[in-house]
Amino acid sequence: MKAKKKLTTSFGSPVDDDQNSMTAGTSGPVLMQDVHLLEKLAHFNRERIPERIVHAKGAGAYGYFEVTNDLSGYCKAKFLSEVGKKTEVVARFSTVGGEKGSADAERDPRGFAVKFYTEEGNYDFVGNNTPVFFIRDPIKFPDFIHTQKRNPVTNTKDPDMFWDFLSLTPESIHQVTILFSDRGTPKTFRHMNGYSGHTFMWYNDKDDYVWVKIHFITAQGIQNLTSAEATTLKGKDPDHATRDLYEAIEKGDYPAWNVSVQIMKPEEAENYRFNPFDITKVWPHGDYPLIPLGRMVLNRNPANYFIDVEQAAFSPANLVPGIAPSPDKMLQGRLFSYHDAHRYRLGVNYTQLPVNRPKAMTVNYQRDGFMRTMSEHEGSPNYYPNTFGGPEPDAAAKWPTYEIKGKWGRHAYVHPNSDYVQPAALYNKVMTDVDRAHLVGNIVEHLGNARKEIQVRQTVLFYRVDPDYGTRVADGLGLDIAEIKRLAKD
Ligand code: NDP
Repeated sequence: MKAKKKLTTSFGSPVDDDQNSMTAGTSGPVLMQDVHLLEKLAHFNRERIPERIVHAKGAGAYGYFEVTNDLSGYCKAKFLSEVGKKTEVVARFSTVGGEKGSADAERDPRGFAVKFYTEEGNYDFVGNNTPVFFIRDPIKFPDFIHTQKRNPVTNTKDPDMFWDFLSLTPESIHQVTILFSDRGTPKTFRHMNGYSGHTFMWYNDKDDYVWVKIHFITAQGIQNLTSAEATTLKGKDPDHATRDLYEAIEKGDYPAWNVSVQIMKPEEAENYRFNPFDITKVWPHGDYPLIPLGRMVLNRNPANYFIDVEQAAFSPANLVPGIAPSPDKMLQGRLFSYHDAHRYRLGVNYTQLPVNRPKAMTVNYQRDGFMRTMSEHEGSPNYYPNTFGGPEPDAAAKWPTYEIKGKWGRHAYVHPNSDYVQPAALYNKVMTDVDRAHLVGNIVEHLGNARKEIQVRQTVLFYRVDPDYGTRVADGLGLDIAEIKRLAKD
């Protein structure tokens, strides 16, 4: 028989009894000297950390990324340097708007985040399962997210808030069309794609650069839930996608994604027919075909959800040599927001938590702060410049530069940009009759709960995408189609 493990306090000393608090007499008051009891209650009170403001509900797993096609002529990142090269990754999938206990089957974009532990530091891909976004300027983000959350008075989700903002923000119509298609309720996390959405810069050893968008295409095939299936599942198994990912990996059915890249030359970007950095747009495959890059396989479940997934902290600012930001304004905002959110949620030393810790050596002049555990810098100077052999910046790590023209100011996107062309292509060319019927049904079901003037304003946007689209939504909502038509012209 194995010897039983001894119960200890968090400080390692043995506990004599974990069932009976110390009392004065058999039924008297509890004693202050029961330090084990006090510590147990105090720690319990502190078990919860702030949940993420967005992407609070998620599941994750470890695995690897393997290069299948050599694109090192475009990108000097070492983890992409040769076919067959493998890099360890951790991935986290999530819904966006709901709280940590919300249902996996909610209609929502899904977060699709992957941390690559490369030899040059962590590279994070922090995408979604949709290639576009609702807004293209970060200054709108807090307002947008407020509309997806609870009404401050009723503490319930509010269709007026939800549709009021969207109907006043025409740039959202592309993402709204994807969100209300069945892709807004993926069957599981395994059955969806991941898109960078943003454009990034890739550059090579000579500092020649291109613009790229990254696509993770599910090897399991896209599968979605209908609205009815999602509604049932929300009640029957709110954690269905979390469970699915865990169980698939547990039984050796490892999910995989084929990773591709679209590449645009800088001179093409200047003259393209829309602003290629506008995240409400895709780059059409016809112009920019998907070029294979690699494959991601998830093959290891976390040993502890809190340590490996809840504390996993991704940021699009985690870049490695060969990859740099584009001027996409939403991306620029996220470069700040993610690290800032993690500092608030996990503390200033969150990069030292096992799941976030780079495999590459980290050497710099940052010191101390709450919960610091690593002491790699011991004995080395804590200031720069110094004459004591402290770490030196490496000029080779600088990003290529590009010309910026114009005056500073609060500029709207001015590149000729229609908000309606791409959702129209999706509605007309890509969707099947069944897809369109589900899309209209899903919209009517949700928008029907908003007040009439908001329904009208939003339906005008659908009409501008395509008269058939707007007419069918108007019919479903019982709106006056002549009024929608008239307003759509204004
Ligand atoms: P294509 O016909 O070349 O590509 C359309 C793509 O749309 C498909 O390859 C598929 O991409 C995706 N798709 C298929 N069915 C659906 C659906 N029901 N809902 C959402 N997406 C679907 O045309 P374009 O590249 O010119 O794009 C046309 C429209 O397709 C775009 O305006 C956009 O709305 C949508 N789309 C385009 C993507 C792109 O990166 N070009 C990516 C996703 C959607 P996938 O393999 O990524 O699922």
